[in-house]
Amino acid sequence: MKDITINPAIPFDLPPLFVGQHLIDGTWQDSASGETFERRSPSHGHIVSRSATGGEVEAEAAIQAARKAFDSGVWSRASGKERAAVLLKVADLIEQNVDRIALIETLESGKPISQSKGEVGGAADLWRYAASLARSTHGDSHNTLGADMMGVVLKEPIGVVSIITPWNFPFWILSQKLPFALAAGCTVVVKPSEMTPSTTLMLGELLVEAGLPAGVCNIVLGYGVPVGSLMSTHESVDMVSFTGSTAVGKTISAVASHTLKKVALELGGKNPQVIFPDADLDAAADAVVFGVYFNVGQCCNSSSRIIVHEDIAIDFRERVVALSRKVKFGDPLDPTTQVGAIVTPEHNSKIDSYVKQAQASGATVDLGGEPLEVEGLGDQFYQPTVISDVSPDMPIARDEVFGPVLSVLTFKTLDEAITLTNDSAYGLSAGVWSENVHTCLEFARRAETGTVWTNTWMDGFPEVAFGGFKQSGQGREIGRYGFEEFFEVKSVVMRIGNSRAPWVPQD
Ligand code: NAD
Repeated sequence: MKDITINPAIPFDLPPLFVGQHLIDGTWQDSASGETFERRSPSHGHIVSRSATGGEVEAEAAIQAARKAFDSGVWSRASGKERAAVLLKVADLIEQNVDRIALIETLESGKPISQSKGEVGGAADLWRYAASLARSTHGDSHNTLGADMMGVVLKEPIGVVSIITPWNFPFWILSQKLPFALAAGCTVVVKPSEMTPSTTLMLGELLVEAGLPAGVCNIVLGYGVPVGSLMSTHESVDMVSFTGSTAVGKTISAVASHTLKKVALELGGKNPQVIFPDADLDAAADAVVFGVYFNVGQCCNSSSRIIVHEDIAIDFRERVVALSRKVKFGDPLDPTTQVGAIVTPEHNSKIDSYVKQAQASGATVDLGGEPLEVEGLGDQFYQPTVISDVSPDMPIARDEVFGPVLSVLTFKTLDEAITLTNDSAYGLSAGVWSENVHTCLEFARRAETGTVWTNTWMDGFPEVAFGGFKQSGQGREIGRYGFEEFFEVKSVVMRIGNSRAPWVPQD
């Protein structure tokens, strides 16, 4: 395609192979089986990392190490000040290692280097915020229970937490969970995605350097089965915190129920931005383009559908197509690139099949609609794609396509826009664009999503909870609500003096 902006491969000295081991009870270890797996760069085709393939042996050892560390009290009974000191040190170390970590993140995932740097550097703030919570958390006290009674409600760390993460934001998503679990006093076992395991290990190195005691954070590499599955079923695990697909989230929820462990889930989304005629259309079009192409569209918060008022639909679509042509697709190592490679060839074919299916059902491809070949890098890329004449029942309007593909739907009334917004199995996020505060407020109140953005898209802060309604998840992450997930609540009821009347009749 000549009418889109493509950055060809730039000359670059690729880093040496990253060799990954498990971190169990404070030591770096290979697998008992000696097996390894490799990750090939989606953009550059070379082997980025070779990792130990964990099995039940390693998962069991890591869970036992986390249990032993928790029960010993080395971390769970440490003061908030001591925990905060380690978390703050980790934040500093992250900032000192951004470039090194971001390079591996980009090579394993295919995302642009500028976005990897933003993800890794930005994560330091999550660690700092969690450190502040470690020192400021407290329960409740009750002195209204009677003159001789006092009650306190304590928050105690829930125990051993299994953290299972996806490939698309490996460093950020781990940092939405791990510092909060550690701030609460929990111990953890982490399993990163088999597609992007290495930056989790780099973070593990920083945890060791920061002085986190052995066994408090264990990392096991490998596949969902058997590693993730044992982490979801084991009796010694008290909670599973999972981010990934809705299908795997449902499996984890089902198998975890046998031990009634707590399950927190951050799952998929089919997130709309709704554009009213009175909106700042330039700003809205820019946010739509950002929302659909950020992280190569492989983002739980991707605004993969827009619902635009029919009076402005043609004009708005033209603005989006014009901006899409200017977005820089191509070599993820080029600092100016905005959209990189697709995670696997199979996923690229899946994206393409959604587009072809929509076309066959009568949708119109206004831009793109094909895989993309980037000079010097091959064809594991997808063109910026805008599709109109999409009806709400088409799979492209309902499923998480997870690629740089935008579906355009239209509406006539506010009620219709809200009905279309909520006509989804998912409920992660939604956005509204209007200069009328009443329109924005009504939309915000009625949208069935965990986050609503008004006149912006994808702004997030460590203070503000994140999570999904419906099949986008359960529980919340980050902010005070996310932190609370990692606690059990214990009530202590105390009598003052010897005022208790005997229950058994006195002789
Ligand atoms: P995935 O569900 O395929 O894998 C996620 C993790 O689960 C991986 O570590 C995988 O090895 C593991 N896993 C697989 N089967 C398992 C099993 N049976 N038991 C335990 N663990 C198992 O997801 P993915 O392709 O890595 O990530 C993309 C998905 O994640 C998308 O659906 C996206 O929307 C979602 N996501 C959600 C959020 C959010 O915050 N809501 C954020 C990022 C990604």
